[in-house]
Amino acid sequence: MSTQIWQKELLRSIRSLTELKAQLTVDLPYPVNTNFPIKITPLYFSLINKNNPYDPLLLQVISPKVDALSDFSEAPLKELEFNPLPGLLHKYAGRVLVMLTGACMIHCQYCFRQHFSYQDQSISKLHWQNIINYIKNDVSIFEVILSGGDPLVANNNMLKKTIDSLANIAHLTTVRIHTRVPSVLPNRIDNGLLEIFSQSKLKIILVTHINHPNELCDENMAKIDLLSKKTTLLNQSVLLHKVNDNYDTLAQLSKQLIQGNIMPYYLHQLDPVSGAEFYNVSDTKACEIHQQLVSQLPGYMVPKLVREIPDRKSKSALT
Ligand code: SF4
Repeated sequence: MSTQIWQKELLRSIRSLTELKAQLTVDLPYPVNTNFPIKITPLYFSLINKNNPYDPLLLQVISPKVDALSDFSEAPLKELEFNPLPGLLHKYAGRVLVMLTGACMIHCQYCFRQHFSYQDQSISKLHWQNIINYIKNDVSIFEVILSGGDPLVANNNMLKKTIDSLANIAHLTTVRIHTRVPSVLPNRIDNGLLEIFSQSKLKIILVTHINHPNELCDENMAKIDLLSKKTTLLNQSVLLHKVNDNYDTLAQLSKQLIQGNIMPYYLHQLDPVSGAEFYNVSDTKACEIHQQLVSQLPGYMVPKLVREIPDRKSKSALT
């Protein structure tokens, strides 16, 4: 199979702090965490203000070093307790999550899976058959969530095979895909992918992970427009210190999402993962910001403020 435009673009990603510093026009006035490797797509980098070390997009892909916090750990969600088969998580009623790939288009330094051992979860042919059998044997499961990593790193051939084999399970109605692709590598939204979505008999819900309005530009909004004609679009943001922890930014984000037919869905409190301490926002501040959104925006523009608690079988609302 020939290399696609998006794959060539991905090869031009920034992959190290040295490379990044060489392309910024300002020195970074803080030390940077280097545990989780840097990876920044060309489109995302083009949206960063190269002269601002506190640019809200830059701060998502490098994390200033701060002191460790005692309640932060490498596995904040204890996902391995809900891992009946390699590549499969089953925690919530009616839904299972499949980790299609461990790779991502971009590395978000607040990522709760930054220490996750994806090697132990890689899905061989046999594992995939076991996952299909697991879903077939539990008629309460109606939705499969494709996650990762970023599931849209998989090529169209693999995605089609995956979605087609899920569509053969009678009690499944929905495939949900969590991805940063629409904002960070919009060229991945090619005709082949749109065709897979429009031809599937399963309902396709795509959850974009967009944290700041500056992540949206004409190029990715055009692809989001195409996606909105084939899928239901929701957005999930993480509340991040110095990135989006204020009313103005989140209100603007909600307005732009609605323009792109994306429903603001969740505003997530950070999962307390080691290495992401810089991004921590107190619950008090989170609730204050959320209250401002509630009081000043129409309801459909206000995402739910939630956090994930490892042993709870649903997300927990903070307000
Ligand atoms: S794209 Fe998602 S899984 Fe990948 S690093 Fe970012 S938050 Fe983590």
